[in-house]
Amino acid sequence: MNSLVLTGIRKFELRETPKPNIKKTTDVLLKMRNVGICGSDIHYYSTGRIGDQIIEFPFTIGHEGSAIVESAGGRVTRVKPNDRVAIEPAVSCGKCDQCLSGRRHTCRDLKFLGCPGQIEGCLSEYIVMPEENCYKIGSSMSFIQGALVEPLSIGIYSASFLENAKGKTIGILGSGPIGLSVLLASRLSGVKEILMTDKIEERLIAAKRAGADWIGNPDLIDIVEKIKDIEPEQLDAVFECCGKQEALDQAIDLLKPGGKLIIVGIPEPNEISFNINKIRRKEISIQNVRRQNDCTQKAIDLIARKKINADFMSTHNFKLKDAPLAFEFVENYRDGVIKAMISFD
Ligand SMILES: [Zn+2]
Ligand SMILES: [Zn+2]
Repeated sequence: MNSLVLTGIRKFELRETPKPNIKKTTDVLLKMRNVGICGSDIHYYSTGRIGDQIIEFPFTIGHEGSAIVESAGGRVTRVKPNDRVAIEPAVSCGKCDQCLSGRRHTCRDLKFLGCPGQIEGCLSEYIVMPEENCYKIGSSMSFIQGALVEPLSIGIYSASFLENAKGKTIGILGSGPIGLSVLLASRLSGVKEILMTDKIEERLIAAKRAGADWIGNPDLIDIVEKIKDIEPEQLDAVFECCGKQEALDQAIDLLKPGGKLIIVGIPEPNEISFNINKIRRKEISIQNVRRQNDCTQKAIDLIARKKINADFMSTHNFKLKDAPLAFEFVENYRDGVIKAMISFD
């Protein structure tokens, strides 16, 4: 089979690799259909690392996938051959204190698809996953929608940290696929007003179309001052969705006393900083989000019931052989790309 292997910084090779075999009776062999390129993939592609998680080349990345079940181990009950599935990329042990307390996403022995030293990613024609990571999608859902389930589930999980969302005014800093997913999910929770920022015009337009009440570009305006004009009492919560120090600083200035900063973005360096006197005086709470917990089925149901339409996020489609170009597009935000999809047909 073909795999798109990352062999160095910004270097891919389309290689012939052995088709994986089902090893456990609860494993499923999946034929990949679509894979979305994530901001975290771009970190690995352009720097070979996220913090101290470092790639040893060669390695296959990719974790936002939809697939068809090719075959299933003898004890698999969740899916059968030819089922269409969205993939939950986090494989947890099911036995540790975290798993047993309903926090499988912070499992002590978590293995994540396309994460260095864990599991080879899904930019391959076939992969093997445990059955509990395969979520059936109906025939009314496209494989592209299936591949959007993972980022959307992160938005749904992030929005769940907004307690008593009704009537609240929130900010979302960063209008990439994750910021937009937070927008779609928090809209459903009944917030009053959503203000969004980004430095890319196409993303702001997408945010506005998807329901943001106000959009602003921090390269063009002082968003802190501008938002103070619109909302003199400032914001109840801010979702940081771009992993940038300047956005974290803006978030602190945008929040009202007692407000909540929810960090969803992934900063490239290991350390970020806060002005402790600002966050202390306003008594800001800081919530980190680790991917998502138990939101895969919720995302599928919301798409299937047409409560959420995330199709607009998938702006570009590339064949596997053209995937290197897709990464170049996403890294450089070319052509207004929001989510680039790789397709395997
Ligand atoms: Zn992702
Ligand atoms: Zn565990």
